[in-house]
Amino acid sequence: MNCLFCSIIEKKFPSKILYEDKTVIALEDKNPQAPVHILLLPKKHISTVLEAKPEDNELIGHLFQIANKIAKDRGVAEKGFRIVMNCNREAGQTVYHLHLHLLAGRPMRWPPG
Ligand code: 5GP
Ligand code: ZN
Repeated sequence: MNCLFCSIIEKKFPSKILYEDKTVIALEDKNPQAPVHILLLPKKHISTVLEAKPEDNELIGHLFQIANKIAKDRGVAEKGFRIVMNCNREAGQTVYHLHLHLLAGRPMRWPPG
């Protein structure tokens, strides 16, 4: 399988890793869309949220806990932040390894583009 995020997780491809534990990793997005733009990935390869199984619930919940921790550590929690997960082409998914985007540091519009 040829997956960019699996290569990053295996340290075969460079990235700015901000947090890592047994099951998840957080890194700076290489093309940031806001002053804070962090990606949170499970180390397990799950291509889209459609492939997430009930046994992945704890893992995906853990991703949100780490997003909370990073938002607090970065000092953006109180002001506000956005968590986004794109699924498939029309939503703009480009890397088929499930991930959350944590975006903050500027006002966000609604509805999203
Ligand atoms: P998606 O479009 O799938 O929701 O999000 C993929 C994200 O991965 C994009 O925001 C894109 O900028 C980011 N990205 C793509 N290639 C790389 C890379 O090599 N390193 C890092 N850190 N981010 C990447
Ligand atoms: Zn992968």
